Amino acid sequence: MSDLDQKITGFDVWHLAVPVTSRRDHGIGTVEATCEVILLRLTAEGGAQGWGEASPWVVFTGSPEASFAALDRYLRPLTLGRRVSDRAAILSDALYAVAHASEAKAALDAALLDLMGQITGQPAYGFLGGKYRDTIPLSVSIANPDFDADIRLLQRIRDDGVRIIKLKTGFRDHAFDILRLERIRADFPEFSVRIDYNQGLSPDEAMTRVRDVAQFRPDFIEQPVRAHHYGLMRQLREATDVPLLADESVYGPEDMARAAAEGICDGVSVKIMKSGSLSRAQDVANMAAAHGLTAYGGDMFETGLAHLAGTHMIAATPAITLGCEFYQTTYFLAEDLLETPFKVENGHVVVPDTPGLGGRPDMDRIAKYSSIGRAA
Ligand SMILES: [Mg+2]
Repeated sequence: MSDLDQKITGFDVWHLAVPVTSRRDHGIGTVEATCEVILLRLTAEGGAQGWGEASPWVVFTGSPEASFAALDRYLRPLTLGRRVSDRAAILSDALYAVAHASEAKAALDAALLDLMGQITGQPAYGFLGGKYRDTIPLSVSIANPDFDADIRLLQRIRDDGVRIIKLKTGFRDHAFDILRLERIRADFPEFSVRIDYNQGLSPDEAMTRVRDVAQFRPDFIEQPVRAHHYGLMRQLREATDVPLLADESVYGPEDMARAAAEGICDGVSVKIMKSGSLSRAQDVANMAAAHGLTAYGGDMFETGLAHLAGTHMIAATPAITLGCEFYQTTYFLAEDLLETPFKVENGHVVVPDTPGLGGRPDMDRIAKYSSIGRAA
């Protein structure tokens, strides 16, 4: 029996509410006080453990309660008793065992990869095609309704070497968005600027506002309208020469196929929490590249554990050329869960070369932030 032929014997799930330092407003909703995540720990019969995180957002992908139930009730029985090496089969079963719940499936995949890495000594990227890059440029999102606080954040991240920001727009009035863009362009010329509406514009106002903000020459304008408004996305794309990105419109490879066929975007935000596994996230990026579209590594409201999973996915995916936005552990959470801090240096995420995901959560902090706990 090879080491990876060990059976999976432990499946533990926790629901955590992790405190954050400020409010974040996005087009579709707000995060304040805490962000809620679900942690999964798999144990193999030899004692090795692998960790994964589901990072749902109730207005975006789904609720933490749904992620918890998907793991605890529906994904547990198809995982326990399987061999660690059965990853592809487990994930294939998981895809159709419970509808949606992409964050729960991403957590399961991350935990399987971490477990494989802990057993073999390989970093998770080694199971995803190998390492293409050592570092990933970091984008930090500007989303505080208190713009003075964001000015201080802009000064801080500039000093830290960050050179990409994403301005969250469409959660208040248009004048506020224009005012912030004028101030950022005037006072922070070092930054490459991206704009993300998070579906915040109504169909009747979208064309005018997208054309207005395009005059500030952002790198791209992301998801101005509702996810299902494919026709309107295509019209907006055709109306401006600034690239239009799809985020909420594209979850997995199935959406990517339709988005490419209908020409709704110039690029896509790739997130493991949307695609439902690290490999499916790679599929989305590769499909985008095959259609001549760009891709960047997005995230949800995550702790460092999910950031690590996304980091390994991007490290092994050449098609993701626009960096990542794994900024929460460094600039948003009051306290992260990882025993060893998520590594960001000079505005770049550093890809870990240690076994598995390269980090595990601290058990005391899990106890501190657990609102619902259950051991197998
Ligand atoms: Mg987005």
